[in-house]
Amino acid sequence: MLNRLIYALVVFMMLLTIPNMSLSFLEHKINMPSAAEITDEEKSDIKEPVNEVEVHEELKKTNIEVPELVKVYNLKTNEVMVMEFEDYLKGVVASEMPAEFNIEALKAQGVTARTYLLYRFKKYPNGQPEHLDAPVCTGTHCQVWTSKEDLMASHNEVWYENYWGKIEEAVNSTKGQILTYEGKVIEPLFHSTSGGRTENSEDVFSTAVPYLRSVESPYEAEAPKLHASVKLTVDEFISKLESVYGELNISNDNLDDKIKLGEVSEGGKIKYITVDGTEITGREMRSIFNLNSTNFNFIQKGNEIEIVTTGYGHGVGMSQWGAEGMADEGYNYKEILKHYFTDVDIVSMK
Ligand SMILES: [Zn+2]
Repeated sequence: MLNRLIYALVVFMMLLTIPNMSLSFLEHKINMPSAAEITDEEKSDIKEPVNEVEVHEELKKTNIEVPELVKVYNLKTNEVMVMEFEDYLKGVVASEMPAEFNIEALKAQGVTARTYLLYRFKKYPNGQPEHLDAPVCTGTHCQVWTSKEDLMASHNEVWYENYWGKIEEAVNSTKGQILTYEGKVIEPLFHSTSGGRTENSEDVFSTAVPYLRSVESPYEAEAPKLHASVKLTVDEFISKLESVYGELNISNDNLDDKIKLGEVSEGGKIKYITVDGTEITGREMRSIFNLNSTNFNFIQKGNEIEIVTTGYGHGVGMSQWGAEGMADEGYNYKEILKHYFTDVDIVSMK
């Protein structure tokens, strides 16, 4: 009898501890191999930083002329501003990349900003369809530009003193330099953090662009958004999906069976998954759950689901945190640009 009592007591004690046990027991990755596991590509090593002689080689000249003035549509005032070309670039570099970054990363951003503007000039000689009087606007629709006054107001007091000179140097020291592919100005896309490998353009947008190829981006360890996650209850997860795709035969108990990985891009981002047979693209998932990137995985812990992401942004072209990492490893801006933009030339405008 006593034995039985003790046995009952032990079982009771065990039951008391089960919530904890079950929590860790039920915590599992949903049956979807991580993107990294499936894109086990042969990694192409980044070339060693080159020596100084090569760094200072003369740049090829092109027939593309430097525009003196640029028209910029200001989204804040709804007016077209006319400003000096190189001054415009400073307001872009300061907006698109933290001024604390390595000067070589900032120079890479400077050349990218200049190239982007030139690309827009050529593509929309009469103004961009969404802002007809100017080839670029001040928002993320084009590339972000902020006035010096607004930059000073949005940073702390010493920011201008400490960093404006660095922004100017990034633009002035690369004056007139742009990126071309087979003699044509490129569209130099960039993003925050690739998560280890950039994307082929056709895996994210519609067209395959020869200079926007998937490349390794190994120096992103400092990127604050390299890893992030979104947590929600399984019920919320299901109702969000069902609000878009209609009723799906999914519940807390069968997610593991119902969510299947579809296709993964060379850069490791998810092209699509299927949920109870319904195809959902990575981009749709990103938008529904406000994810940092389409490189994600699920972890279910009881009634909670965590969507874990790697990287931040679309992943095409130059990774800004990757550029910062390369610069800290001793690579200069030319090496950074030539790494992220395949087979491009860095040329000097007339
Ligand atoms: Zn725009």
